[in-house]
Amino acid sequence: MPTLTLRIPEIESKGRVEARFALTRAWLDEALAQTELSTPGAGADDEEVGEVRLAAQMAARDVVVQGTVEVSLAAPCARCNEPLVLALAVPFTQLASPRPDRLELPEELELTPEDLDREYYAGDELVLDAMVREALLLEVPMRPVHDEADCDPAVIAALADAEARRPKGALAGLAGLKDKLKS
Ligand SMILES: [Zn+2]
Repeated sequence: MPTLTLRIPEIESKGRVEARFALTRAWLDEALAQTELSTPGAGADDEEVGEVRLAAQMAARDVVVQGTVEVSLAAPCARCNEPLVLALAVPFTQLASPRPDRLELPEELELTPEDLDREYYAGDELVLDAMVREALLLEVPMRPVHDEADCDPAVIAALADAEARRPKGALAGLAGLKDKLKS
C-alpha cells in the first residue's frame, strides 16, 4: 500500500474519471492484518482477489468519489469457529478535500462529524487505500455465521441440545435459583 491512487489533474481536466483497480492478495492481506479476517484460499501475492470500480469528479476543490468494492473475505464463524467466506460488494461514497496548509488552520480546530468523515488529498494524488479498507471492514457482520447446513454438525447438535435443556419462561430463572438454594 498505497496502490489505489487517482491523479487530481486528470480529474480536473476531464471533469469526471472512471477507474478500475485490481485488489491483489498482498493488498488484502495487508488490509486485513490486525483483524480476525483473512484472504480466502492460497496463492501468489499478485493474484487478483477483488476489485474496486469507481467514478471521481470535482466539486469545486473537492473530489467526490463513488464506487463499489467487491471482494471475498474469510472470517471465523461465530458459531463453530471454522472459516466461512463472505462475498462482499460494498458501495461507498467519499468526499476528499485538499489538505489545508498548517498555516491556514485556525488556532482551535473544531471538528464536526462531517470533517471526520472527510478524506484529504495532498498535492496531485488522492490515495484511496484507507477508505476502501474502512468500507470493507464496516460491511463485515459483527457475528458472521455459516448457513446452518454448512456449520459444523457437532456444534449445531450441541447448541440444539443446550437450547432444549434451557428452562423456558420468565419464571424459569427463579425456579433454577430456588433449586440452587435448596441444594
Ligand atoms: Zn459455522
